[in-house]
Amino acid sequence: MVDLKNLIEITKKIISREDVKYIVGYKKGTYGFQIMPAFAYTPEDAEEFIYSPLCSKNLAVYTILEEKLPLKRGEEEDKRKIGVVVKGCDSRAVVQIIQEKGLKREDLVLIGIPCRGVIEPKKIEKMFPNQTDLIEVIENDNSEYIINIGGKTHKVPKNELLSDVCKSCEFPNPPLYDVLLGEEVEITETEEFSKINELDEKPTEDKWEYWKEHFERCIRCYACREACPLCYCKECMADTLNPQWIRRSVNLSENTAWNIMRAYHLAGRCISCGECERVCPVNIPLMELNKKIERDVKKMFDYTSGLDEEEKPLFGMFKPDDPEDFIL
Ligand code: SF4
Ligand code: SF4
Ligand code: SF4
Repeated sequence: MVDLKNLIEITKKIISREDVKYIVGYKKGTYGFQIMPAFAYTPEDAEEFIYSPLCSKNLAVYTILEEKLPLKRGEEEDKRKIGVVVKGCDSRAVVQIIQEKGLKREDLVLIGIPCRGVIEPKKIEKMFPNQTDLIEVIENDNSEYIINIGGKTHKVPKNELLSDVCKSCEFPNPPLYDVLLGEEVEITETEEFSKINELDEKPTEDKWEYWKEHFERCIRCYACREACPLCYCKECMADTLNPQWIRRSVNLSENTAWNIMRAYHLAGRCISCGECERVCPVNIPLMELNKKIERDVKKMFDYTSGLDEEEKPLFGMFKPDDPEDFIL
């Protein structure tokens, strides 16, 4: 459990430094189970920071949204650091972006949270529908959530609400941080790719039927792209008109092209935070695509993304023993 007093104290201390511009963390939303990103520019702002099992959003996405406006004549560049509260997967996203030279380590202050998993918003909303009052969730031990709604307390087994990605998370502890809030959590043995292996054994026609049914429902809202901390190209291939890689029409062909392209563009980069699937309004199981590629990358190149900021990204390195049987 994260000690909230400690989180606020540490945030206040960091934002009081002259070399820090702001810190991104979590605060209560405006209704129900909603949690919002919070930006602390002053020690007073840090008072509203919270951390609970509802904090599923990957805040690493905000590190790449920092706008660098053109400088006026005589104006000096603001070189202050940005602080971010990072769980295991958020920290891995930051590591991956540093590897890709999208960010510099020295521009960041990372407040690490050893993560015991987060609640899947869609699961809790289904269990307690149409809640408008603000709801509080506490994890009382490793197996139960205590949920307070309108003065009533509900106890729910953790497994019923835990995000699927957290059930098979191999890296709950941030690999990169400046300060860690609490003891590292123990890593439990998981069968990370069991579902993917199962799907893989199906005949090709069945796999196509399965994905066809899902891709047909895609509305190309690009929420999956916007929520992903590793989808930060200045111009996405899905938006270019010359050449136009994907047409704007929403149909099975173009939707398939989009979803396959998105998944492949994240090969060796996706850090399995589950944000893309979480925000998809039509519930496409995007993590099944991501996990398949993650498993294949691991098998072929013995590579796992987002663990060491000094390492080169998968597509930026070559090992003499890399398999080459796919080269025609
Ligand atoms: S994937 Fe891992 S680090 Fe990320 S929220 Fe789940 S348990 Fe925490
Ligand atoms: S979030 Fe879902 S519906 Fe929207 S573009 Fe992505 S896959 Fe399609
Ligand atoms: S593709 Fe999905 S799971 Fe992977 S890093 Fe992006 S949002 Fe997270």
